[in-house]
Amino acid sequence: MTQIINKETREFQAETKQLLDLMIHSIYTNKEIFLRELISNASDAIDKLRFESLTNQDLLEGDSNFEIFIVPDEASHTLTISDNGIGMTYNEVVENIGTIAKSGTKSFLEKLKEKETTNDNELIGQFGVGFYSAFMISDKVTLVTRAPGQEKGVKWQSAGDGTYTIEECEKEKRGTTITIELNEDFRATSRPDENFLERYTIENLIKKYSDYIRYPIKMNFIKEEKPLDADGNEIPDAPATETVEIRTLNSMTPLWTRNKNEITTEEYQLFYKDLFHDWEEPMEIVHSKAEGTVEYTSLLFIPSRAPFDFYSQKSTSGIRLYSKHIFIMDNCQDLLPEYLRFVRGLVDSPDFSLNISREILQHSKQLKLIGKNLEKSVLKTLENILSKDRAKYEKFWKEFGRALKIGAYSDYSSRDKLKDLLLFSSSHASDTLTTLADYAGRMAENQKVIYYATGKDQASVERLPQMELLKEKNIEVLYLFDQVDEFTIDALKEYGDKKFQSISRGDLNLDDIDSPEAKKNTEAIYKENETLIQAIKDLLTGKIADVKISNRLKSSAVCLVSDDKGISLSMEQILSEMNQSMYKASRILELNPNHEVFTTLKNLHQTAPGSEAFNDYCELLYVQALLIEGILPEDPIGFANKVSSLMARIGK
Ligand code: ADP
Ligand code: MG
Repeated sequence: MTQIINKETREFQAETKQLLDLMIHSIYTNKEIFLRELISNASDAIDKLRFESLTNQDLLEGDSNFEIFIVPDEASHTLTISDNGIGMTYNEVVENIGTIAKSGTKSFLEKLKEKETTNDNELIGQFGVGFYSAFMISDKVTLVTRAPGQEKGVKWQSAGDGTYTIEECEKEKRGTTITIELNEDFRATSRPDENFLERYTIENLIKKYSDYIRYPIKMNFIKEEKPLDADGNEIPDAPATETVEIRTLNSMTPLWTRNKNEITTEEYQLFYKDLFHDWEEPMEIVHSKAEGTVEYTSLLFIPSRAPFDFYSQKSTSGIRLYSKHIFIMDNCQDLLPEYLRFVRGLVDSPDFSLNISREILQHSKQLKLIGKNLEKSVLKTLENILSKDRAKYEKFWKEFGRALKIGAYSDYSSRDKLKDLLLFSSSHASDTLTTLADYAGRMAENQKVIYYATGKDQASVERLPQMELLKEKNIEVLYLFDQVDEFTIDALKEYGDKKFQSISRGDLNLDDIDSPEAKKNTEAIYKENETLIQAIKDLLTGKIADVKISNRLKSSAVCLVSDDKGISLSMEQILSEMNQSMYKASRILELNPNHEVFTTLKNLHQTAPGSEAFNDYCELLYVQALLIEGILPEDPIGFANKVSSLMARIGK
């Protein structure tokens, strides 16, 4: 016999302590969800055991009557929830219950610390803090568990005060029993829906949150009956007899197998929140059944809000796979394309076997077919929202638009499907966003390209020297503020038969300024000033690729543009932030020949070529052009010194 591990007191991990503190001094009003959390853990534990027992019968220890049992006890003020699931070993208890292993919970705490403005309730709901929610209603939680095949069980106990005790103990039945000693506040409370020892309350909570759980959730109902006399009346003085009746509280019918017309919106919403640990109702629900080549039921949800770590996290698809109503796996990656990974939901198909491995699944034809259909149906749903309820679509866009944009640029096959679902800011839609179709609809007949400008916000884009001319001509320009926008536009290349054209790259493709006469005129100015331009080029060698006479500037003296090939200046910036500074845009300095500064340069070049003043002016113009693009000069101090000495010279 192995020696029993004696009782030990241990400290919770710092984060766990914080979380418990939060739970106890509760920010969270919806305390009843503790029951849902514990039932959901029990059900998960049975799922795991059932799954493992498919390949190892011994784990069942002869007991395959899976069930969850609830026992309320008024006398000791306790509520006990037991399951005969997979249980936990000593180490598993330490790992799963003593620490917060889930990175989501950690980030939750960080988020909470950094932001006092956020609504705590909303936050907590996003994470589903699971087991610890028991401490919302309890001063003492005891967990006794035994994993199949283990000789000893483990007893864990905590008052939620920063420490817990753990020891080995006897436990006959496999699985986990959690005993919650209700906090004073919840004993004999006058709030009937918060009296968690009341059978009626428990029954309602199970109906509300856990009805579809696939294993019976049982509770004993005790009936006290006085014996009856010959007339059928109770005999007052006779001792009552107690009969115990065990009832199953949940219907065990998976929601998605029911007829669509018989499911209320509220039922869908509760189901979603429970299964996907979301606090908010989903934005959209898509429930469909397919028969034919492949048979399946799918129930998909578009959440109202992106999880706070949605864009930083490595992709996880939220689709659960079931076969004949039995859970097979979570996060089934192959069901939806990466760009739709915000969709949560499930697929239930009799065409999959229960112990199918991920590897086999990947090559499954059925899965691919279902995936294609799901993708289509989600896209159709989004198209419908866009055309019927623009405000709702913009709300969706704010949360998940970025995923679609990333999809359009990184997934070649999706570009066509996504192009009409994209929204952008625009010079002609100040408070709203525009689709590409809207833009195309507003284009003048002779407009050859779709213009866009990049910048960090509306104000900075509108101040770009390159915007002035287009504004004057009342030509619409898409504003790209999000880093990914330009990559998306670049990947799309064109919409309809119109190419996208950056206002800071290549030719503007405007009839008048690009007309043969205008071009000739620019060329003439260039020729006239060839030695000047060459001198500037020589001075700025290594910094710029070329100097040109501009036809796109109105009141500004210079601007920096890049040519049509390679990457743009803004892309260069983004890539360098991502430590990819080997990619460089070609920098072309454009000079406004109608600006006074141009005349000054010309004069200086004639009277004092190669003078310090001339060199300084060229350098200053170049840095100005950089600054306009939001790029810091390599030598800001040198720039400042030059400006200072120029100011001093003029002041003399
Ligand atoms: P989650 O369920 O999201 O993982 P919880 O806080 O609810 O988070 O539970 C933490 C972990 O504790 C679970 O992942 C599981 O490993 C373990 N656990 C909780 N309850 C049980 C149970 N009844 N049986 C077995 N393991 C459990
Ligand atoms: Mg849980």
